[in-house]
Amino acid sequence: MIEPSPLIAQIKTYDPDFDPTPVNRAYEYAKKMHEGQTRSSGEPYYTHPLEVAGLLANMKMDTPTIITAILHDTLEDTSATYDEVKAQFGEEVATLVNGVSKLSRIEGQTVEGKQAENFRKLVLAMSEDIRVLLVKLADRLHNMRTLHHIQKPEKRQRIARETIEIYVPLAERIGLHNLKEELEDLCFAQLNPEARESIANRLSFLRQEGTEVVQEIIDELRSLMAASGINAEVAGREKTKYSIWRKMQRKNVSFEQLSDIMAFRIVVDNIEQCYGALGLVHSTYPTVPGRFKDYISTPKPNGYRSIHTTVIGPANHRVEVQIRTRDMQEEAELGVAAHWAYKSGKKAEKKDAKQYRWLRDLLEILEQEQRPEELLENTKLELFQDQVYVFTPKGDLIELPAGSTPVDFAYAVHSGVGDKCVGSKINGRIAPLNTKLNNGDQIDIITAKNQSPSPTWERFVVTGKARSHIRRFVRQQQRDQYSALGKAMLQKIFQQEGYEFTDKAVAHVVPQFRMDEIDDLYAGIGQGNLVAREIFRTIFPAHKTPTAKKPTDAEVEQQAIQARKGGGAGKPMPIKGLIPGMAVHYARCCHPLPGDRIVGIVTTGKGVTVHTIDCETLENFADTPERWLDVSWDDGPDSPESHVGRLQVTISNVAGALGTLSTVIGKNGGNIINLKITSRSLDFWDMLLDVYVNDTRHLNNIIAALRATPQIASVERARGR
Ligand code: MN
Repeated sequence: MIEPSPLIAQIKTYDPDFDPTPVNRAYEYAKKMHEGQTRSSGEPYYTHPLEVAGLLANMKMDTPTIITAILHDTLEDTSATYDEVKAQFGEEVATLVNGVSKLSRIEGQTVEGKQAENFRKLVLAMSEDIRVLLVKLADRLHNMRTLHHIQKPEKRQRIARETIEIYVPLAERIGLHNLKEELEDLCFAQLNPEARESIANRLSFLRQEGTEVVQEIIDELRSLMAASGINAEVAGREKTKYSIWRKMQRKNVSFEQLSDIMAFRIVVDNIEQCYGALGLVHSTYPTVPGRFKDYISTPKPNGYRSIHTTVIGPANHRVEVQIRTRDMQEEAELGVAAHWAYKSGKKAEKKDAKQYRWLRDLLEILEQEQRPEELLENTKLELFQDQVYVFTPKGDLIELPAGSTPVDFAYAVHSGVGDKCVGSKINGRIAPLNTKLNNGDQIDIITAKNQSPSPTWERFVVTGKARSHIRRFVRQQQRDQYSALGKAMLQKIFQQEGYEFTDKAVAHVVPQFRMDEIDDLYAGIGQGNLVAREIFRTIFPAHKTPTAKKPTDAEVEQQAIQARKGGGAGKPMPIKGLIPGMAVHYARCCHPLPGDRIVGIVTTGKGVTVHTIDCETLENFADTPERWLDVSWDDGPDSPESHVGRLQVTISNVAGALGTLSTVIGKNGGNIINLKITSRSLDFWDMLLDVYVNDTRHLNNIIAALRATPQIASVERARGR
């Protein structure tokens, strides 16, 4: 039975002032929460977090990290909650435990080779405090050590593959050398047992042959240092089977020499002595060319510092020698964790300072990673803080800039998905398209066949891909509308002058206006860059237009009716949805709705404004009949969209009348977007209401419902200004 006392004894060896109370409490809590749960080995579950804590105690970690390790599976696997952990063990521990749980949640996603780097960045990004990652790595190490208890070989393989693709490079990146080597070798045993066994056999053969030699070399190096007054520890260390195998793969070599399997290490007090020791080794033994590396003057990207050299050593053996200080030795084993480790004599620094130093260290690592010769893999590490990593429903990982939304995600998956996107689900819940995505979110995009990109998306998307697709669509849409408008304007002139309109008649003047296509010409007219009458004159140079006379009021009315009726060659121009920045606008004076009889007024360069046919504003255009345009509602397959309907309402000044008003409108599917009180008396209030509706029928329904309501004195659709 594992109890926390050995753990506490272990912590006391490096932190004599350590208070065991919270660790004991965490132990009792974890034991209680995991009660009844067992590991694959059959042991009670709580032994696992305790072992993980032990691994971190070996790394001399601080108390919050140890407690986090003991609690690390409680949020994910038991009924414990964040608030409870916070109340019991404080915010620091609760945040750390929560971080570890977040990482656990993203495990087991299928990750293909090239996605592994993204996944590593996701893990880094999600462990905002490096201690989260340290606990996770220790957790993984214990799980790998006990992997043989898992029955299914596929599951063992999956976990080993995930470990070698994700966690080994992470451990390497933050400099946890020993942990990395052990993880690697455990994965090796799982993934390629035959190769590992053959190396193990060869090793034991070489070891038998070399046992005496190793001690001989150690003794000789020791006396060499002692003779020059350098206080040095000398040790021989066998390389791991995995690193030997990798080297054989990489260099396509066999291994037969001692230097292939052993490294000797000289650990001294300070940097001066490092170079002193190096001088002694080099002046005593012949060096092997091309094997000298000074990682003290130029540390590895993960912070590793040491001198490496290979010499023809005692008894003519090729020997690899590593020279470093004690501090470097600790850092080489613990990497960034060394900064969190308790140091005797030094009281723990304040948390903020540590946090800051850790961040700076990591940023340095990431920056230096740009040096290609030092890259563990040939992947460039972007600053992961500015990225967000999310999943498709199938578990594919997508990397996006921070602040990205479901629309960015949709376009990143496929432009077709982006164009047809109508909604999104984030982690299974419906979410607005402008929601900012978080690391680890799973996004489901809902699409519809008839949907097209909305220009309003441009306000919140952050990726260039999404933006350019939306812009391209809007431009195309604008061009289509301007082209339809231009054609309608030209048709009208043909009709006025008594000619039948055909595209063919226009087609042959297209080159004269330096256009490639007839639609460009129409769009030019619609946008106001070309004058319709000029084009008409170019087509019919001999035609004489009778002088126009100012129309009477009666003729204006007639004009509107005529425009409405269309007739002749001209067909009404169909009006589509209300898209900002488009060629077609709805007049604010009369708020036309689908179902209303409408007419368009052309403003050069600004497109066409749609009014209801009885709008008073139209009087202002009586003098310019050429600006009137026949338009009609397009009953296309589009889903019903909202239009603004304006109501003039008078309500009794009694309690609750306003509430009743909005309830009645809401019940009838209307949505009030604006309310303006125009006059107030003792008994009545007059107001203007803007309501989102689908069409006139919808608005008329609302009007009828309001008229049936006692507190409402009168309701009319507002006309004119
Ligand atoms: Mn665990």
